[in-house]
Amino acid sequence: MLPLTDQTPHYHPERQLAPHIEWSDSGEASEHVVQFYESDSFLINALSNYIAAGLGADDACIVIATPSHRAGLERRLSDLGVDHRAAHRSGRLLMLDAAQTLSKFMVGDEPDPKRFAKLMGRLIARAGSNVRHMRAFGEMVALLHVEGKSGAAIRLEELWNELQSETTVPFSLFCGYAMSSFAEHLRSDVFNEICHCHSRVLPDESYSALAAPDARLLAISLLQQKAASLEAEIAERKRVEDQLRIANQRLDDFIGVAGHELRTPLTSSKLSLQLAGRGLACMAKALTALPDFPGDLAVEFERLGTLVHRTLGQIDRQQRLIDDMLDLSRIQAGKLELRLAARDLGHVALEAVEEQRSLHPSRDIRVSLPEDSDAVVLCIDADRIAQVVTNLLSNALKYSPEDQPVTVRVATDGSSASVRVEDSGRGLSPEEQEHLWSRFYRVPTMAVQYGSGIGLGLGLYISKTILELHGGQVGIESVVGQGSTFWFTLPLPGAADN
Ligand code: ADP
Repeated sequence: MLPLTDQTPHYHPERQLAPHIEWSDSGEASEHVVQFYESDSFLINALSNYIAAGLGADDACIVIATPSHRAGLERRLSDLGVDHRAAHRSGRLLMLDAAQTLSKFMVGDEPDPKRFAKLMGRLIARAGSNVRHMRAFGEMVALLHVEGKSGAAIRLEELWNELQSETTVPFSLFCGYAMSSFAEHLRSDVFNEICHCHSRVLPDESYSALAAPDARLLAISLLQQKAASLEAEIAERKRVEDQLRIANQRLDDFIGVAGHELRTPLTSSKLSLQLAGRGLACMAKALTALPDFPGDLAVEFERLGTLVHRTLGQIDRQQRLIDDMLDLSRIQAGKLELRLAARDLGHVALEAVEEQRSLHPSRDIRVSLPEDSDAVVLCIDADRIAQVVTNLLSNALKYSPEDQPVTVRVATDGSSASVRVEDSGRGLSPEEQEHLWSRFYRVPTMAVQYGSGIGLGLGLYISKTILELHGGQVGIESVVGQGSTFWFTLPLPGAADN
């Protein structure tokens, strides 16, 4: 900023552009001033000047602020030579805690007009009994705004305005809002409304602290330029976001179409191969029974049989990937539907475990079920829940050493049922855990320790969606070097009513 002062050649003292506020001229006026600020010290300075001028003019002053701002005010008043203790004793200075005062008239997320009028009316009647004018500083509105309750903050500003117009002792009101609390551009409408609740709006220190009018004109020009470039940037960002949305939509459509196109021929290939495999097995059985059947041909039959079996296994894996793509496409279109029925979670989990045991005979897969299996009867889509258990379990197998066991625990705790899948893999850091449930995410440095490495990074995303549709939750407990436990919970029937 150029150091324009009254010494500079272009200085024009006649330009009265938003002159510095003189707190002493609040006089009789029932002003409602809002001061925006960047630093607490600037607010405390402005507030101290406001209160010091009030006490100097024999006004009664009420300060409703946070503990740190009240402490800052007392320190600053002392620096200014104002005896705030004496003012306090004589009833001229009343200090209240903003959060506590707020709690006395808030009902839910809204200020209650009657409670507010009663509480503030009593305060004003007490403080203003022997004075011609009063001053109040209120920070409750700012607290509400920071908590994300901007509507309630605006309502409270209006209640203050109503109170100002109704009280017999005129009083001016001073509010402060941190400029950073309006940083999100989407809140410009809130900012506008808050400004309109006040009779005077004071910009933050980047403007208010400038003394010379020319410096202020320059500051306004710079702010206008900044606003213009920000608006252009927002428009550009919106354009890019729109393009991204369209590209994402195309990708989702493509995944859906590709999934269908791939699945159909794969299903018929699988069927043909199964038939060929069965035919081969029959032929081998019949021919090898012949007395003069050559031994090397029998070996060849066996080799072909193994080939068919292996290829069928590969088709199964590809089918699972394609099914994930189709599920993703259904989720994106909001068409993943559940077929709910009363089923025992323990049985569903056990069936999924048995399937994995048969596919991975070399692995030690342990199961722990609750003793009373009736306790885990839930209203679920059993196929989908089995899909989740299978996904967690196959991940546990894939990302842990072959010689280490994997454990599946089913339990209940009175309000929910849970399934925990524990492995002794390398574990995941907090940063890696953060992205796990996003679609297409695969931990870049996570090596597959057992079996095939294929995966699209969709399993956990789909699992999370399935559980959310059931009203359940998912999570992970993991420490690098100590393995991982992936868990999910499902509400027990009637738990929500309790
Ligand atoms: P994928 O098909 O790639 O396994 P998932 O969504 O199931 O997709 O898993 C996403 C990623 O999370 C995996 O690629 C892997 O990096 C990590 N992951 C999942 N389960 C485990 C586990 N038990 N231990 C370590 N990493 C895991």
